[in-house]
Amino acid sequence: MLKEGFFYKKYGDKLQCNLCPHNCVLDNGQKGICSVRVNEDNILKTINYGEITAMAMDPIEKKPLYHFYPGSNILSVGSFGCNLSCSFCQNYSIAHYRVKSKYMTVKNLIDNILEHKNNIGIAFTYNEPTISYEYIYEVSKEVKSTNPDMKVVLITNGYMEIESLRRLLPYIDAMNIDLKSFQKDYYKKVCGGNLNPVLKVIEEVSGQCHLEITTLLVNGLNDSKDEVEKIASFISNLDKNIPLHLSRYFPTYKMNRPPTKIDVMMKNRNIAKKFLNYVYLGNISGVDNSTYCPKCGELIIKRNYYSSKTYIIDNKCPSCNNDIKIVI
Ligand code: SF4
Repeated sequence: MLKEGFFYKKYGDKLQCNLCPHNCVLDNGQKGICSVRVNEDNILKTINYGEITAMAMDPIEKKPLYHFYPGSNILSVGSFGCNLSCSFCQNYSIAHYRVKSKYMTVKNLIDNILEHKNNIGIAFTYNEPTISYEYIYEVSKEVKSTNPDMKVVLITNGYMEIESLRRLLPYIDAMNIDLKSFQKDYYKKVCGGNLNPVLKVIEEVSGQCHLEITTLLVNGLNDSKDEVEKIASFISNLDKNIPLHLSRYFPTYKMNRPPTKIDVMMKNRNIAKKFLNYVYLGNISGVDNSTYCPKCGELIIKRNYYSSKTYIIDNKCPSCNNDIKIVI
């Protein structure tokens, strides 16, 4: 559905969208880089408002969020479009193509959230959610005012302007933000964006809501020791307890490099652990992704793929009484 967007300025018959750091300047009829915001007769309109392409009850661990209500399920929805153009996109069919969608009003979606049993809330995921800003903002605000126990989660590339982030953040309980690399060139050439705005968003979100970070390690491009050290060091300067998910790349979409080597993934996990209390591996079967107390090493969450069992008592390690900052 077409709806007027937030965050834009008019310059004669041109518009500038200020939702994300691309700040696209649009002639009449022109779409932005995200392909979902358009200058229609000098009004910025969003074309994916309430347009849902995928909906499923997912384990929260699948987002991935490992330290936010482990073992719970969350209603997960996606739309279409993306403001980055990563060559390895795992969701390219909805991120870069206009697929069939179903329109759901804010009320329809909230009814769905409440109808599902054993559901902790709503996760905006699958494609890049922040480019559905107006819909997400309205749903999140309404959820928080009518059903404050329901959680609102964003799984995002973090490519937002700080002003748009600040307006949405009070209604968000948890985010997983991709930090795709620590190289400016990688963001430009492989993802079609810039590194610094993502770092600023991560800094802004840290401490405001629950935060986890995901980095897809791509064979030979961003899987060096130096790169992982930079990423882990940046996160640890914010908070050593922010979980980092290092995810293994497999060839897909426009990228044809061989998969990232498993021994490189393992080594990088150990490197990141020198900086951070919690580092997990994604897209590798058979690895231990359980959570251990960073002080005494006691098992505190036993995890097996997407199922988990928690041993934390009153936010403390059952063995050494260390404070554990995991939302349960
Ligand atoms: S949200 Fe879309 S139109 Fe707006 S600045 Fe970003 S890419 Fe451009």
